[in-house]
Amino acid sequence: MTNDCLFCRIVAGEIPATVVHETDRTLAFRDIGPKAPVHILVIPKAHHRDVAELATADPALAGEVLRICAVVAEAEGLPERGYRVLFNVGEHGGQEVFHVHAHILGGKPLGPMVA
Ligand code: 5GP
Ligand code: ZN
Repeated sequence: MTNDCLFCRIVAGEIPATVVHETDRTLAFRDIGPKAPVHILVIPKAHHRDVAELATADPALAGEVLRICAVVAEAEGLPERGYRVLFNVGEHGGQEVFHVHAHILGGKPLGPMVA
């Protein structure tokens, strides 16, 4: 738990979120500013800065986050038409919250990935 981390505070229940899935080690909740009809964030409950740091420190947990992305996408009915999973890393990657999170985006054609 990092006191000044927004997503740690969501994990702690100090800030409300619309939770769609929870396990001992992960939490999935709807993005507050959705960029698509379905926009869900999947996080490990433990604080890790970004996906590179998570994958190095705890590869099993990184894998678990990816597995939960698949579970959540299935629950949202996304696999039939397809969807996107992405991690922003650091300043140039557009990361604004420095507690690693996978974005799940879907529910409309997202088009090609743009930089
Ligand atoms: P990043 O740019 O770090 O990859 O993505 C951060 C995401 O967190 C953004 O899509 C933003 O809308 C979302 N976000 C920021 N603050 C909150 C919040 O308080 N609650 C929720 N549910 N999402 C948030
Ligand atoms: Zn955190």
